[in-house]
Amino acid sequence: MNLKNKVAIVTGSRRGIGKAIALALAKAGANIVVSDINLDDCNKLVEEIKAINGNALAVKTDVSNPEDVSQMINLTTEKFGKVDILVNNAGIYMQKSLTDVTEQDFDRTLDINLKGVFLCSKAVVPEMIKQGKGKIINIASIAGQVGFANSSAYCASKGAIINITRELALELAQYKINVNAIGPGVIETDMTKDLLEDKATKETLLANIPLSRIGKPEDIANAALFLASDNSDYITGITLFVDGGWLTH
Ligand code: NAP
Repeated sequence: MNLKNKVAIVTGSRRGIGKAIALALAKAGANIVVSDINLDDCNKLVEEIKAINGNALAVKTDVSNPEDVSQMINLTTEKFGKVDILVNNAGIYMQKSLTDVTEQDFDRTLDINLKGVFLCSKAVVPEMIKQGKGKIINIASIAGQVGFANSSAYCASKGAIINITRELALELAQYKINVNAIGPGVIETDMTKDLLEDKATKETLLANIPLSRIGKPEDIANAALFLASDNSDYITGITLFVDGGWLTH
């Protein structure tokens, strides 16, 4: 898949799934804006992308902060002149029972996971309208489709991402902006490190995955590459679950 001359912003991309997506899009030829709350690791990824003959810019962005988001778009257009692709990947997960989860935990999760998608999409759309085309990819979760215990805020945020994806697809189709989501299953990243280090938990998780393995960030990056490319031009409003078959039962 060829993304030559395209400009892609990937939020929360200093590590994990976001980093794998940034690298996959860069390998396909896109210029990448590596955006995250922690700039040090972003700069490291910029160097990695340059080492494979790509072009990238690091931008410190808290996706829940409208000023940061607006600056992210401004710095992108200053450096690369346009935005073609936005991957709303930044997200947090807190495993807490309803008894333990606080109102602040709930608000913070919704602010980053859901409001971040809203703010970044709202800010990027005028640039995509100028291009006459665009691709927005939201990273949801299987936890947006079914319930997971002790994850009320996370499940609420990811379920809302699946439906805001449908709404934005409907609203932005007139501008040829495709809006789709990816629903990862259990993927090996820092987010799931503690869960997967516990042998019993890992076995229980594996028992729910028909393809019998934990997912890799690259599994999600492959789906993102497809949804960012012209090959998916007639697809909008969907959530593509990349979960080893978790949701089949
Ligand atoms: P990760 O390794 O924890 O990476 C998430 C990245 O987002 C981190 O670099 C984090 O930075 C950044 N981030 C957090 N808050 C931010 C904010 N306010 N603004 C900008 N960046 C922020 O997690 P991951 O597993 O790669 O997850 C990526 C996405 O996939 C998330 O949306 C997650 O919900 C989703 N997902 C993951 C899984 C899985 O099994 N791993 C499954 C389903 C869905 P800091 O660490 O510095 O805060």
